[in-house]
Amino acid sequence: MTTWRLIYHGFAPEEEGQREALCTLGNGYLATRGAVPESQAGDVHYPGTYVAGCYNRLRDSVNSQSVENESLVNVPNWLPLTFRISGGPWFALSDVDVLAYRQELDLRRGILIRVVRFRDTAGRTTRLAQRRFVHMECEHLCGLQTTLVAEDWAGTLEVRSALDGTVENTGVERYRKLSSRHLRPVRAEAPDDETLLLVTATTRSYIRIAQAARTRVVRQHNGDVGRSLKAGPDWVAHHLVTDLLLGASITIDKVVAIYTSRDRAIFEPASAAVNALARAPDFDELLERHVRAWDRLWQRARVEIGHADTLRVIRLHLFHLLQTASEHCVDLDVGVPARGLHGEAYRGHVLWDELFVFPILNLRLPLITRALLRYRYRRLPEARWAAREQGYAGAMFPWQSGSDGREESQHIHLNPFSGRWVRDTSHLQRHIGIAVAYNVWQYYQATGDDEFLSHYGAEMILDIARFWGSLAAYDHGRDRYVIRGVMGPDEFHTGYPDAPEDGIDNNAYTNVMAAWVLLRALEVLDMLPDVRRGEITESLGLSQEETLRWEEISRRLYVPFHEDGIISQFEGYQDLEEFDWAGYHEKYADIRRLDRLLEAEGDSPNRYKLSKQADVLMLFYLLSADELSGLLDHLGYPWDPGNIPRTIDYYLARTAHGSTLSAVVHASVLARAHRHRALDYFIEALRSDIADIQGGTTAEGIHLAAMAGSVDVLQRCFAGVEVRGDTLWLNPYWPAELGVLEFTMRYRRHTLTVRIAGRTARVSAGAGGGRPPRRPMCSRRPMRCRPVRYTATPTATRGRRTARWSRVPGRCWPATRTCRRQCHRSGTRRRCPRPVSR
Ligand code: BGC
Repeated sequence: MTTWRLIYHGFAPEEEGQREALCTLGNGYLATRGAVPESQAGDVHYPGTYVAGCYNRLRDSVNSQSVENESLVNVPNWLPLTFRISGGPWFALSDVDVLAYRQELDLRRGILIRVVRFRDTAGRTTRLAQRRFVHMECEHLCGLQTTLVAEDWAGTLEVRSALDGTVENTGVERYRKLSSRHLRPVRAEAPDDETLLLVTATTRSYIRIAQAARTRVVRQHNGDVGRSLKAGPDWVAHHLVTDLLLGASITIDKVVAIYTSRDRAIFEPASAAVNALARAPDFDELLERHVRAWDRLWQRARVEIGHADTLRVIRLHLFHLLQTASEHCVDLDVGVPARGLHGEAYRGHVLWDELFVFPILNLRLPLITRALLRYRYRRLPEARWAAREQGYAGAMFPWQSGSDGREESQHIHLNPFSGRWVRDTSHLQRHIGIAVAYNVWQYYQATGDDEFLSHYGAEMILDIARFWGSLAAYDHGRDRYVIRGVMGPDEFHTGYPDAPEDGIDNNAYTNVMAAWVLLRALEVLDMLPDVRRGEITESLGLSQEETLRWEEISRRLYVPFHEDGIISQFEGYQDLEEFDWAGYHEKYADIRRLDRLLEAEGDSPNRYKLSKQADVLMLFYLLSADELSGLLDHLGYPWDPGNIPRTIDYYLARTAHGSTLSAVVHASVLARAHRHRALDYFIEALRSDIADIQGGTTAEGIHLAAMAGSVDVLQRCFAGVEVRGDTLWLNPYWPAELGVLEFTMRYRRHTLTVRIAGRTARVSAGAGGGRPPRRPMCSRRPMRCRPVRYTATPTATRGRRTARWSRVPGRCWPATRTCRRQCHRSGTRRRCPRPVSR
């Protein structure tokens, strides 16, 4: 693997699922796993293609209980292309002697390449080279090019190119006991000589999916190719027959167009697919345009790191992020599926993982965040309904969201360790609403997009605040507000030991962040222009009494603390038993999923002081030390930031890291306090998928939040880039062992290049589109820059006067050395950067 390539040598059936996920190609509209074109779903391969937002629901009965699950549908497989020589068996890797095998994901160009040399049972040697794309510019188009060389034989070559609608959702073993057939056939035909058309529909959401494929022989020295059509109700194929001379080669291009009835600006998907295909240029030209589109994308997401091993994984992570959330999402109604469009874990649902994804998009492609936040906005009515149903006000977003925003979390799930179906209460993670509100606010901080805040964001923040306002109950004994019966980010604690009710009380993360949401809601109300404030308070029926109550709750929410000043994960956590970590490490090779292990043993994590992932520490991840101190102070809990390292140590010793998110958060919170431990967790986050650290879960889809989160560790924690208080903050504390970091980012309509080395940052700006950026801050002080290097040149563009800001050439803005001297002079050098600043 170079820094732009992921390369596999040799075919390893046991690794194939992981490779397929990591070699997925996508463009935000659709994605196709890197399964080999001749494969079918089975023990080794799992071809899967997913169209963003294309969901369907199926019902089952489990233990006499009716369950219904919504899934992102595995749509018909457009890849199938295989061949046979002189009437022999159809090509399958398992049936031939593989002489050489190389698979390469070209990250810079978005191409998946495979080169195989094999000898078949008749002793013939053949070279097979394939490359494919999922088009980054024309989001409906995909292409596969296959070249075969008859190295030491001559004979007949038969090629079969198909569209296969017999596929099901069987990618996750744990779900296989449930129904999986989401598609029914509609049409399978050949609109013209070289085109195939397959139309299927989802069984209950009635989404029609049309695929049109054109298979062409483009290069060979014998011109005769016979072609015949074969079709079943839910598949259609072309058979091509030709003769190959000794040493001859042949190239076959398959170009495919995919549309669904959810698409806009179409009459209906079948004609859209056929027309798009008829107008599409040939493979080579499409590929050229695809590569140019990726080139443009990489300009926006440019990152250079002195440490090649880190850079290559960071590029892989950015690549998959850009393939899942792209500008093609902007016109769609889609969210961010936790496992990308790369597999079927979590059934393609949208959880809080976008909290880890948006920081990267906000500072590069904020238009995409805006679109993805509107996915939440469109589901506000459903969230309001859900709150009302439970007797609350405001909006209660679902822990798992799919098509219409209802709660999609399972009620029971299969524990693969015990084989038992276990009750699932994860929907009690009400903190999802906090993530939505936080994301809106962060997007606004990065972009200053007043229109979005005013028209969509404010309503979401206010309605989420209203929900917390109604969920918080006044406790007379304490003279405080309490939030009972929830789950925190640590999914292992579903309730109190042996208690009949689900949920725990006063999860510190939830309560503190609920106060944060209430304060943001009040701030947003203040910020809105009078007219809009009037409109929104009127339409939401928001009274002064209610906002006064929010203010009161934001000061009086209860936060549990241990006697020694450590924030308690939830009320009663301190009374739980200590867990036998050493014993369990000895007993099991991997104890990440303690919930499953303990359930299989007839025990429960609810009894112990243990966590699946960061819970209290999420507070340090989302809030700076100053913000957290300020918030706790506001809540009437004086807090010494000196407690942060102790709190980190306390929970770190009690965390199983059962989620890949855990390494991201721990790397971040340790970044200032324990550099080397932070690097260990950072490396763990980098390894999440490339090393499949959870032992098999990558095959079910990438861990998108861990991928994006690892980039965020670099950006936010090591480079110290933060956006808050209408200010871009730079507080670098960069590990020297990673070399120099340079990346491009957008901040409030300006493109900035940031270069970080050790504790120095250099920011330079290209021509921007509006006001000059606000002054960056370093360690709480404005960086004293040499005179701002921007000049405003009013220019007339088509009769409109616009101001263009341009940098005076050759001077850099701002000068970091100035910042360091400044801190030194004022006697605060040790606080530059502060030992624990986040
Ligand atoms: C984590 C959740 C996360 C989900 C999807 C789970 O293992 O506990 O916090 O949202 O994975 O990534």
